[in-house]
Amino acid sequence: MISRGQFIKKIIKPIFIMSGINTLSAFKKYTDSLPLLNNLMPVLFVGHGSPMNGIEDNEFSNKWSELAQEIPKPKAVLVVSAHWFTKGTSITAMDFPKTIHDFGGFPEALFQVQYPAPGHSILANEMASMIHSTSVALDHEWGLDHGTWTVVRHMYPKADIPILQLSIDYTKGPEFHYALAKELYHLRSKGILIIGSGNMVHNLGMIDWTKLNGSPYGYDWALKMNQTFKELILNKDHQPLIHYHQLGKEATLAIPTPEHYLPLLYTLGLQDKNDPIMFFNDKHIGGSLTMTSVKIG
Ligand code: ZN
Repeated sequence: MISRGQFIKKIIKPIFIMSGINTLSAFKKYTDSLPLLNNLMPVLFVGHGSPMNGIEDNEFSNKWSELAQEIPKPKAVLVVSAHWFTKGTSITAMDFPKTIHDFGGFPEALFQVQYPAPGHSILANEMASMIHSTSVALDHEWGLDHGTWTVVRHMYPKADIPILQLSIDYTKGPEFHYALAKELYHLRSKGILIIGSGNMVHNLGMIDWTKLNGSPYGYDWALKMNQTFKELILNKDHQPLIHYHQLGKEATLAIPTPEHYLPLLYTLGLQDKNDPIMFFNDKHIGGSLTMTSVKIG
């Protein structure tokens, strides 16, 4: 007959050690082992636009490559992609995330792309444990969707930096997403690059397909909204951006559904008061889409 004390010592304690305590100290160790940077890692919002940007050498993809040369090489990259819109928040926690071709009607060459960057299961665990506003599920099914790989393969073509994705919980409002981002702030001082990937103005239903490949073209409401977004971002005036439903009918047209806009709120939530702000790829496409992107820090 085993006593209660022996039961705890022989059965329960080893289970805890196997499943929790040892692993937990391993999570702590990972960012503890990274040097604290003097300068915070920048945080980006990238307008990803068409999946074709993933294989084209164009002004947008060239800028992504240039930017990666300008900023310190990250220890890992966390992307909040418009294309992983889920019930609840998840983080990719596999060691080898697959390349997801989550689109249709594009040339075969785009479906052939593989971006074999590693994941980082220990860091995924650590990031999940940093977030207290919700429970974050460790995901082993997703991978890198085109909101992520079409951008990062231009930034880090060697695919030698761990890439993780954080999903966007579609049951939650914009305040939730902005606040959640703040819980990840510490990662900026540890050399981890966080990217929100979407498009600020994104109304596919209103695209003028005849104007996609010509010179930049934006409808009046899109031009106005792009200007409003930039002014608010430059003034660090985040409340109207969080409560974007109150920005008038132009905002309703620019953000008919929230998934491409919400990644911007993650980027803004990670802002430090001393960060410089720089826009790039500030272009209109097909009337109702902007590629406008921002580097903070
Ligand atoms: Zn998209």
